[in-house]
Amino acid sequence: MVLNIAFDNSYARLPEKFHVRLDPTPVAAPRLIRLNAALAREMGLDVQALAGAEGLAMLSGNAVPDGAEPLAQAYAGHQFGGFVPQLGDGRAHLLGEVVGPDGRRRDIQLKGSGRTPFSRMGDGRAWIGPVLREYILSEAMHALGVPTTRALAAVATGETVHREGPRPGAVLTRVADSHIRVGTFQYFAVRDDTEAIRTLTEHAIARHFPAAEGPRGLLRAAVAAQARLVAQWMALGFIHGVMNTDNAHVGGLTIDYGPCAFMDGYHPETVFSSIDAQGRYGYANQPQMAVWNLAQFATCLLPLMGGDQEAAVGEATEMVHEFAPLYQQAWLDQFRAKLGLERAEDGDATLIETLLGRMAQQRADFTRTFRGLADGTARAEFAEPEAFDAWAGDWRARLAREGREGAELDAALRTANPAFIPRNHRVEAAIEAAAAGDEAPFNRLCEVLARPYDDQPEARDLRDAPRRDEAVHRTFCGT
Ligand code: AMP
Ligand code: MG
Repeated sequence: MVLNIAFDNSYARLPEKFHVRLDPTPVAAPRLIRLNAALAREMGLDVQALAGAEGLAMLSGNAVPDGAEPLAQAYAGHQFGGFVPQLGDGRAHLLGEVVGPDGRRRDIQLKGSGRTPFSRMGDGRAWIGPVLREYILSEAMHALGVPTTRALAAVATGETVHREGPRPGAVLTRVADSHIRVGTFQYFAVRDDTEAIRTLTEHAIARHFPAAEGPRGLLRAAVAAQARLVAQWMALGFIHGVMNTDNAHVGGLTIDYGPCAFMDGYHPETVFSSIDAQGRYGYANQPQMAVWNLAQFATCLLPLMGGDQEAAVGEATEMVHEFAPLYQQAWLDQFRAKLGLERAEDGDATLIETLLGRMAQQRADFTRTFRGLADGTARAEFAEPEAFDAWAGDWRARLAREGREGAELDAALRTANPAFIPRNHRVEAAIEAAAAGDEAPFNRLCEVLARPYDDQPEARDLRDAPRRDEAVHRTFCGT
């Protein structure tokens, strides 16, 4: 065996009811589309071996490496507010966990790797559209500094998957600090299995918040992590699109990249997802939806909180409500940094909101406007540049009070405002090209997005906002 991976599978050691053990379903003709060598090295994996025949066999699900214990995880979830007591991995297999040289424990999971007892009507497969989409988006989020699941590899299966029509099949290898969702807790809560919730609580604490104590400590930590996470999404113009509780990660990672998207022109009511008819998961609703999810999480933990349940409800409610001040602070921190501000002043929220308001009125491009603060090109993003100029006067006065200017200010602005985001029209074009056999645009996107804060003049075209006829307004789960 060249592939010598030191698996240590803590989730597989949990009681049987947490999962169903089964191997991935082999595919016809696997071919590596892309391997994330940097991530492989972080994990202490042998890049050569992964890129070779045995690696490909593992990454496609055609062989189970020594030490892996493939399983499908059980979970439930609220989908658009409606509770489904059993969802689970219907097209994913957790191969196991590895602890990297950095001491970090990570799941290695195949997605699109065949049917499981949780598949319901699904075929257990994925086509290259969502696979490449998740690869691009999750790796871009990582490079942007946002906690997220990662992409280790994308493999073409050589098989056809049927969606709106025939599509080329693919498998994504997803890496994450865990795959524990609010829905994992809900799965046991709805079954009144307090013992399992206790076990899962300990497991989640060990994996995400080792300093936390008991259900209260876990809840407090999860609330804080979600508040920070959503503030980061907002500061990047990112819309998750399907913030169902099965897609809400207890450790505060971005997970399950479906119809998610980065906004081009800014408007707080922006919704991309084709399945989100009510706009439940639109940009501006994300903080509230995170609170809603955390309230579901808190409800699961109540039986562990002991004593008088009414008192426990009151206490849990208070802890969930801690989200608002934590989020507000994180949001202010994020947007202050985007304006090049280091210190806090009372009028800062107004200064930020005034800019956002004017951007919304004119659909100024979110990413280009903020990056343009450093480049002096922000005003050009406004149909009526005077709207920007009026605000910029206040901004400059505010900056003057901090005494920050010149190269120092520029550097600060560039660190807080990316030049590159995975723009929808580019992601769609890369997928289309890959489906037609040309993976170059996909590979180029991945490489440029690995350094989103660098200027990269040779990639100038990828900074452009879409032309009217290029803009993508709808994104699809496409599972
Ligand atoms: P998601 O859209 O990734 O949040 O998935 C919601 C649920 O549907 C999860 O239980 C998935 O495992 C399941 N699912 C999605 N696509 C498929 C598929 N092609 N085959 C089987 N199950 C699927
Ligand atoms: Mg999901």
